[in-house]
Amino acid sequence: MSIVVENVSKHYGKQKALNEISFEVKPGEIVGFLGPNGAGKSTMMKIITAYIPATSGKVQVCGMDVSKEPMKIKRLMGYLPEQNPLYHEMYVKEFLLFIAGLHKLNNKKKRVSKIIKKVGLELEQHKKIQMLSKGYKQRVGLAQALLHDPDVLILDEPTSGLDPNQLKEIRALIKQIGAEKTVMLSTHIMQEVEAICDRVIIINRGNMVANDTVENLGSVLQSKDQIRVEFEQAMEKKDLESIHGVIGVKKVSPTVWTLQHDPKVEIRNQLFQLAVDNKTTVLTLQKETTKLEDIFKALTSSPVEEN
Ligand code: ADP
Ligand code: MG
Repeated sequence: MSIVVENVSKHYGKQKALNEISFEVKPGEIVGFLGPNGAGKSTMMKIITAYIPATSGKVQVCGMDVSKEPMKIKRLMGYLPEQNPLYHEMYVKEFLLFIAGLHKLNNKKKRVSKIIKKVGLELEQHKKIQMLSKGYKQRVGLAQALLHDPDVLILDEPTSGLDPNQLKEIRALIKQIGAEKTVMLSTHIMQEVEAICDRVIIINRGNMVANDTVENLGSVLQSKDQIRVEFEQAMEKKDLESIHGVIGVKKVSPTVWTLQHDPKVEIRNQLFQLAVDNKTTVLTLQKETTKLEDIFKALTSSPVEEN
């Protein structure tokens, strides 16, 4: 029930969509695959589900190589693609029976009824798919991914476009499903990861920038306090770095800097002294604590030019 990704790269022509990505999803985990649009999330998921090949590298699902046993892999996995492709002319139950037929399931009717109940589609099962709200269409998508009772679920942006109530319901449903299965879901929304996932893998422009528990990622950076300081005149990075207790220095502009520091050391007095020594003044000073959201922003924004 595990997913092992080793040094996977994907090129679309000259464009590198994934660059040497490696990670593991352990049985029973719900892992969030987080990144801004164009990061490479859907590409990675299509490779894991054996819909497109990697340019290089290796993916194993439940111990099998996806490029060697694509059909077996597809049987073990449920996949909700980003564009949730449904047959809008079909009725909900009819569609699910059709999918059950594709999987050659025994007891199709019984299985479909069970899944309809599981995802909360009892009242809509006799409606045409095109009549359903986005949230209910998403439930149909989840139902088709779950029909053949796969061990591993790959959900590509399962909650995008949902209103706040639908969002809450679908998240709860995914969490409930995640209690029994290995789940990997992609999202570009931080709160989603905080709400559902055990672990988060962050990618940006095809590169992996973090892979940690949601808890760790939050607390590791929270343990360092951050101060944003604006000087009247340009400052030198090395001077800011020389302040006792400062761990990291980031330039926002020549006059605005963010400093990470050991929370046990008070650096504000030193900053004022530095300003005096440089014959300038401190215009503003703001304490910032780093939440996961900020980490995400920091990890995925383009690096500030260093001089
Ligand atoms: P995400 O799902 O994180 O938004 P994608 O995996 O869809 O990102 O895309 C990653 C990058 O690869 C993007 O720059 C996208 O334009 C490019 N890309 C995706 N699919 C194709 C394709 N079939 N042909 C060419 N480029 C593609
Ligand atoms: Mg995508």
